[in-house]
Amino acid sequence: MPANARAKSEVTVQGISASHGIAYGQVFLYLQSDLEVPSYQVDPDKRIEEVARFEHALLITRGQIQKIRDEVEKNLGADEARIFDAHMLVLEDQALISETIRDFESTGRNIETCFNAVSQRYVQAFSEIDDEYLRERAGDIRDVAQRVLANLMGQAAGNLSRLVEKRIVVANDISPSDAASIDRSHALAIVTDTGSKTSHAVIVARSMKVPAVVGSRNLTSQVRNGDWILVDGYDGVIVINPTEQTLFRYGKIQLQKKSFEQRLFAANRQPCVTLDGVAVTLRANIEKEDEVSLVKEYLASGVGLFRTEFLYLNATRIPTEDEQYAAYRTVAEQLAPAPVVIRTLDLGGDKPITGNPELFPHEDNPFLGFRAIRFCLENLELFKDQLRAILRASAHGHVRLMYPMISGCEELDRANAVLDECRNELRTKGVPFDEKLPVGCMIEIPSAACTADLLAAKNDFFSIGTNDLIQYLLAIDRVNDRIAHLYEPTHPAVVRTLSQIVHEAHRAKIRVSVCGEMAGDPVLAPLLIGLGVDELSMTPPLLPAVKFAVRAMTMSDARALASQALTLKGAKEILALCESFYRARVKVD
Ligand code: PEP
Ligand code: MG
Repeated sequence: MPANARAKSEVTVQGISASHGIAYGQVFLYLQSDLEVPSYQVDPDKRIEEVARFEHALLITRGQIQKIRDEVEKNLGADEARIFDAHMLVLEDQALISETIRDFESTGRNIETCFNAVSQRYVQAFSEIDDEYLRERAGDIRDVAQRVLANLMGQAAGNLSRLVEKRIVVANDISPSDAASIDRSHALAIVTDTGSKTSHAVIVARSMKVPAVVGSRNLTSQVRNGDWILVDGYDGVIVINPTEQTLFRYGKIQLQKKSFEQRLFAANRQPCVTLDGVAVTLRANIEKEDEVSLVKEYLASGVGLFRTEFLYLNATRIPTEDEQYAAYRTVAEQLAPAPVVIRTLDLGGDKPITGNPELFPHEDNPFLGFRAIRFCLENLELFKDQLRAILRASAHGHVRLMYPMISGCEELDRANAVLDECRNELRTKGVPFDEKLPVGCMIEIPSAACTADLLAAKNDFFSIGTNDLIQYLLAIDRVNDRIAHLYEPTHPAVVRTLSQIVHEAHRAKIRVSVCGEMAGDPVLAPLLIGLGVDELSMTPPLLPAVKFAVRAMTMSDARALASQALTLKGAKEILALCESFYRARVKVD
């Protein structure tokens, strides 16, 4: 550790544990929101240097963009690289440059201030133009301007796919697409000021096996690039400038946790059966087709949730039917005969498509807004492309189709009518697909839970999305760190609702799974199993711990646990019950 970090005193910041693990390293500050630009008067005899500083920043920016452009062209093709040609044009825009210099000459304010003001005027003017192409240029100007400002201010402009050394990413917030683009080999850990356990960026971090802490409030203003910090993803703690003693203590904790994780991993080869011989099905949640390797590594029984929106989030355009078909087919073929539950698009909420204001206009309440099936039913061509792609992939493995955010029977009927149209189109063309493709829906909106009996009659299976179900039942925004402590999976309302959904599903003789984050929590999994849930689906690295818990309990004990939980009055009481059930069976040391 460098001497200057040693000299500073240790500061501990409490956040929310989001992905397990401990990391120690230097900070990479990811400032994707508008940079804070300092404003000051420049000495009259430093004016030539100030303009030279501006020209130098433009030059560096040009070099950076050219490098990204070349790489994108090499990896993704010329079409995808074209966006960076537009960025180059912004940089070469003489009007923007000379207006900045004119502003500087007349006001004498530092060049960042002048450039920021001029570029913001441009962004504003372009975003008001009544022409789609020109309006999109506003985004290009904003991106480039942020990069130039970052270079002027000596800060790293954010791009998480381009971490060059191993670093701990500290950000205000990370969008799911940023998270998905993180360079896995270089991100030691992720810390965000905002967010909560079930935000999609965190789910991605968990699948990368990178420690993560969210809700660190203002860590971004407490650390600078290059500072040394320790991230404890188990307890949600960040230690800035840790002392030797702290590092030693965490070294021991890490060894202990590692050895427990190794034990779990070794035991993961055993079948997932309770002590009294009842088999429990554990499946994997994936976001991209290359995660099939994780499904295999962690021995999941196929995929219980393929979040297909991630194919869209990182693309500069909507993938075609053929591109989607190729991705779904790869997963289905590689995992056959294990099933793969492909969920139709769940864009919106904390997963908008960036740079696409036509499809996703600003909403004050995105989680209660134009999301998932609502979006698909209003964008039928896009929906049908996906449905056809899934149907076609069903000829190559054991595919199941699932709709997200279904609120009731009428919405389900509308989605199924579109699916029928797609089936007919394929039949007419003689394109093969699985005529018996199982179709189910997520139960994640309270109205769906209340009408579970009606929905069960129309579905081949249910999958309960506890992440959303809890947020809607308890009225707790799942990505708001201020109220994260109120997001309680063991709230009696949640436990009763789960029990009722399972009851209705079983009455209709369909299977029910849970694919929210609750399923991957070894302390809560016994409760779900005891409530009668047939399958659990989770981020693959969480599977060994859940299997370990299943193998350490009897089904009759789990049922008794659930029955007792249903009689209790508070979330904390039920959580304590689950924790003592777990501790009595699983020894971490
Ligand atoms: C859920 O809501 O629990 C779920 C699995 O869906 P997502 O997290 O993608 O919203
Ligand atoms: Mg959901």
